[in-house]
Amino acid sequence: MVVRMRRNHSQTAKRRSHHALIGAQLATCECGTLRVSHRACPQCGKYNGRVVIDVVARAKRDQRRTQRKQKELRASGQSTETKEKEEAKA
Ligand SMILES: [Zn+2]
Repeated sequence: MVVRMRRNHSQTAKRRSHHALIGAQLATCECGTLRVSHRACPQCGKYNGRVVIDVVARAKRDQRRTQRKQKELRASGQSTETKEKEEAKA
């Protein structure tokens, strides 16, 4: 690197002055839980006062998926330890 291109401490500090992280801006849903603004509420599935996500159906589907995965793991003969780890992840 040529000396002309070298960044001094002041220039580095000025660049990094914009690197601070800020917390997520959360809004309160009508159901009372915090949610990310301009996103549907994961708790009640509402956006802008109307239901856009069928929360009950989603929960049932997720439950069915986890049951099927566990069944496949048991069928493949993997140990119970790996199953428990998968459950802990989910
Ligand atoms: Zn909600």
